[in-house]
Amino acid sequence: MQHLFSAFAMTLRSHEPIIAIATAPGRGGIGVIRISGNNLEPLAAKLFATSLTPRHAHYLPFNDQAGDAIDAGIALFFKGPHSYTGEDVLELQGHGGPAVLRRVLDHCLESGKEYGLRHAEPGEFTHRAFLNERLDLAQAEAVADLIEASSEAAARSAMASLSGAFSAHVNTLSERIVRLRMLVEATLDFPEEEIDFLEKYQAHSALKAIQHDLAALTAQARQGMILREGLHVVLAGQPNVGKSSLLNALAGDDIAIVTPIAGTTRDKVIQQIHVQGVPLHIVDTAGLRETEDTVESIGIARTWAEIEKANVIIHLQDARAQTDELDTAITQRLPARTPVLKVFNKIDLLNETEQEEFLSSNINNGSAASTSVALALGISAKTGKGLDSLRQKLLDIAGWSPSNESPWLARERHLLALNDANEHLALAAEHASQNDRVLDLFAEELRLAHDDLSAITGQFTSDDLLGEIFSSFCIGK
Ligand code: GDP
Repeated sequence: MQHLFSAFAMTLRSHEPIIAIATAPGRGGIGVIRISGNNLEPLAAKLFATSLTPRHAHYLPFNDQAGDAIDAGIALFFKGPHSYTGEDVLELQGHGGPAVLRRVLDHCLESGKEYGLRHAEPGEFTHRAFLNERLDLAQAEAVADLIEASSEAAARSAMASLSGAFSAHVNTLSERIVRLRMLVEATLDFPEEEIDFLEKYQAHSALKAIQHDLAALTAQARQGMILREGLHVVLAGQPNVGKSSLLNALAGDDIAIVTPIAGTTRDKVIQQIHVQGVPLHIVDTAGLRETEDTVESIGIARTWAEIEKANVIIHLQDARAQTDELDTAITQRLPARTPVLKVFNKIDLLNETEQEEFLSSNINNGSAASTSVALALGISAKTGKGLDSLRQKLLDIAGWSPSNESPWLARERHLLALNDANEHLALAAEHASQNDRVLDLFAEELRLAHDDLSAITGQFTSDDLLGEIFSSFCIGK
């Protein structure tokens, strides 16, 4: 009963008209207020004392209750279902100042009280677009990813996801799995035909082809995830080996968009740079020492938390010095499961022959995406020598290949679902190849693989997960 009631309350709430300032907080040339609801015509008529032609720009005064002008701007009306949310949408474009936008918003809320108009929750416009089937879940996620994209490559790929390129591939594979399953299930009703079913419908080769294409899609999604999530790189090493210099050198022209993680100055340990569009979150471990200072210990605790997330560790040493106990101690403190790249800096201070030795080893010591082997590289943060090899090694370790650049952006959630689907198809293949063929188990694995793919586009997704996804959006989106 409780459950029924809350479901009812939620349905009611999801039909209330909602409003939010859609532009970023702060001052701007224009500011946009967005309203969405099932029937906004009466509210629009009340606000503007005139009826709005859908999809026409109306230049109007935005007046308060007393008829005094708060602002003047453009009002746009979109009649549902031909709108972003699939409901009626009213957009007011006025001047982009926080006070004036606040006044327009308050006035709209007051006028819309009788229709139940309320503030929108984060992501609620896009959530409604999803519920009204204007977008599937992967596309809705791409809206947030496009807004958050920190490199041009990420923005391009997010846009591809938003336009449905990723979903289309997922749906095509889903349909092929369903077709195969329907054949199997039809055969289950005629047990005497079970024996030659697999041969008759070339089920083996059909399944193999699906597995092949799913593996290719998974590989691309992995690239898409690297582009979205980036790579956590930890710079470890003794003082003065050149960690800060290396960070600056890697950042290069990118330094202008280096974004330190907000917080106290002492925990500004992570900086983001881009290499071939891939975000690298670089953690400088300069602060890793024993300390009595509380604030500093908090910073250090955060650094260690970041190190735990590292995808790769750069252990930086001075090319002129021998590895000593301090270096060994640093190595021992780092998580054993994380690949370590041994990098020798300051090779510009070596003689020509020694330099050549280091640089030739940069080329020779394996370009494979090795995760366990420690690679040694010689560089000079000062002259930039060897940095291209280092960038390339970092991308190799991440499994990033520019030739296979993902046409879309993907999330960890998508990759997990694709991996699960891969596993179910492998089990289906196993059942199909057994002497005592178990067609019902074969069909069941196909069903589970299909469910995994459907979760990506949101056909089978729990309310909890939807809540989690949309609550991470900004307000007004
Ligand atoms: P950190 O303490 O590890 O962050 O080291 P810094 O980046 O502050 O560098 C320490 C010193 O080494 C500075 O004087 C740098 O100019 C110098 N340095 C860093 N990298 C190089 C390099 O590749 N070649 C030379 N010659 N000096 C370097």
